[in-house]
Amino acid sequence: MEDCIFCKVAAGEIPSDIVYQDEQVVAFRDIQPQAPTHILIIPRKHIATLLEATDSDVDLLGRMQATAISLARSEGLDQSGFRLVTNTLAGAGQSVSHVHLHLLGGRVLGWPPG
Ligand code: AMP
Repeated sequence: MEDCIFCKVAAGEIPSDIVYQDEQVVAFRDIQPQAPTHILIIPRKHIATLLEATDSDVDLLGRMQATAISLARSEGLDQSGFRLVTNTLAGAGQSVSHVHLHLLGGRVLGWPPG
């Protein structure tokens, strides 16, 4: 996707603090962290929102989740806890139209979210 900022991150066209990448997913630190650990996990494939994901993306979504769990361990969050969030559509706070999983941890996270 030409104008997608996360496609550009995945392609290495704009600088980012990448913590993991493979053929399918890229993980990088959020530019405006909301917690001591705030990492975004994205698919290389452009999917605008979870609503556009299809059955053929099930493995990819699982890979994103598995990557997030692995990163939670390497960030030392497997004792203190962490949260995985995918905001979907503007009403839920989605500001970038490329599916992403937020990995948040390193502080007490309130519930319910705002
Ligand atoms: P959301 O609001 O759920 O769509 O999340 C988008 C997230 O992307 C926000 O937390 C932003 O701070 C983050 N973000 C936007 N641009 C960049 C970027 N170039 N590098 C890292 N994080 C970004």
